[in-house]
Amino acid sequence: MTEVEDVELLVIGGGKAGKSLAMDRAKAGWKVAMVERDKIGGTCINVACIPTKSLVASARTLATARRAGELGIEVDGAPVATLEGLRAHKEGVVGGMVAAHAKMFADSGMDFLMGTARFVGERTVEVTLNDGGTRVLRGRDVVINTGTTPAHPDIPGLADVDPWDSEAILRMERMPESIVILGGGYVGCEFASMLAITGVAVTLVQGREQLLPREDRDVAEAVAEVLRGQGVDVRLGVRASAVRRDGAGAVVALSDGTEVTGAELLVATGRTPVTADLDLAATGVEVTDRGFVVVDDHLRTTADHVWAAGDVAGSPQFTHASWNDFRILKALLTGGEASTAGRLVPYTVFTTPELARVGMTEAEARAAGRDVKVARLDVAAIPRAKTLRLGQGVWKAVVDGATDEILGVALLGHSAGEVVAAVQMAMLGHLTYQQVRDAVITHPTMAEGLNLLFDTIAAEVPA
Ligand SMILES: Cc1cc2nc3c(=O)[nH]c(=O)nc-3n(C[C@H](O)[C@H](O)[C@H](O)COP(=O)(O)OP(=O)(O)OC[C@H]3O[C@@H](n4cnc5c(N)ncnc54)[C@H](O)[C@@H]3O)c2cc1C
Repeated sequence: MTEVEDVELLVIGGGKAGKSLAMDRAKAGWKVAMVERDKIGGTCINVACIPTKSLVASARTLATARRAGELGIEVDGAPVATLEGLRAHKEGVVGGMVAAHAKMFADSGMDFLMGTARFVGERTVEVTLNDGGTRVLRGRDVVINTGTTPAHPDIPGLADVDPWDSEAILRMERMPESIVILGGGYVGCEFASMLAITGVAVTLVQGREQLLPREDRDVAEAVAEVLRGQGVDVRLGVRASAVRRDGAGAVVALSDGTEVTGAELLVATGRTPVTADLDLAATGVEVTDRGFVVVDDHLRTTADHVWAAGDVAGSPQFTHASWNDFRILKALLTGGEASTAGRLVPYTVFTTPELARVGMTEAEARAAGRDVKVARLDVAAIPRAKTLRLGQGVWKAVVDGATDEILGVALLGHSAGEVVAAVQMAMLGHLTYQQVRDAVITHPTMAEGLNLLFDTIAAEVPA
């Protein structure tokens, strides 16, 4: 029987929350062990945010080079994207961050185990080490941060065509001439935009009547227009009913009786929590019917001193949400107080241009019974956008008619992901829309557009 090693903090899965907590507590002098199956730094760095946004940067550079003439710059020859070049850029960024993490883990003083953990008792895991052997560890506190992996829907024939998912596509060996993407959520939309810019013929199949189902219909339609403008064939309200491969590639039969074909097929239909092989029952941790760990708003599981964080805990599926989970856990494990209740989690869909969101949609605000004012601005009206000749997009804000506070924004346009943080700060500080409208913002910046956006709400006429 392998000896049980006791630690003060045991982290299962080195995602954003887990690795941040492990490093922080190890540096504070706690005895910490973290077990990671195969990705030093977690999903974001290895196979999600960082590689994809590196590739989005490449696509945007290509788009800029193609329109250099508009800005008075002559480019000698047509700019082209090469797979070797894209890979070198992406792997350079990822490799640098992975190496930095390996060093930070070592420097923090934690015991970092590369291997697969599964529970064998209360707060106790057995780790099958990647380089052979096993260890058994028990934590005074345990954090489960095992993340999610791409879900593959149950469509007849799908498995036989060996489709790509968001991880497999990053390992592609040659650029396909065409691709069918199943799923119009943020992963599907980001890949559609990036691939279309780099010259791939993209068909995007979305079962719902709109892309990005959590967005307002008009906002989702504006994103669809952006994609169509990039040449994407956007098919809404149709589902893949069967898939087969023929000489031309993957043929997808759709619920409306038509077929679409792509040299490759990308599945972007959501993510599955990594809990199935953890034997969570051995430590008394319950999961939902979809396999996510059940937590309360303090990230406590159903077992004492066992916590969960990030995607696997049902937190919004973004790295920054998982990072915030770390801050909550740190507070709770060190005698403070923090909770996930009511937190404002913004996000950006990195199409080109990008869609940045924070707070309520108009539909959500109306459903909540709010008296709503809506502000709208074409990005083309913003001076900075004119200088860049990047006027595509529209901004929308939802304001509470009773308090004049900002309830939410959807910003589609250049650098929207940066501007949205300013709105988020205004919301956290409970500023009224008039205070943002009247704030002196640097000219010419995209953020200055906030003055213009809130100007579009007509002044109240006294009765
Ligand atoms: C294509 C794509 C693009 C994305 N882009 C963005 C973006 O731009 N911005 C953003 O905020 N979010 C983005 N996301 C979402 C983001 O990647 C996730 O929300 C985030 O990585 C979740 O982190 P986490 O802390 O839950 O754990 P993860 O980072 O998923 O880490 C979990 C770790 O646990 C390990 N593990 C699992 N089981 C075991 C086990 N039994 N033993 C040991 N280790 C185990 C895994 O190997 C993994 O490294 C994107 C996702 C995808 C798929």
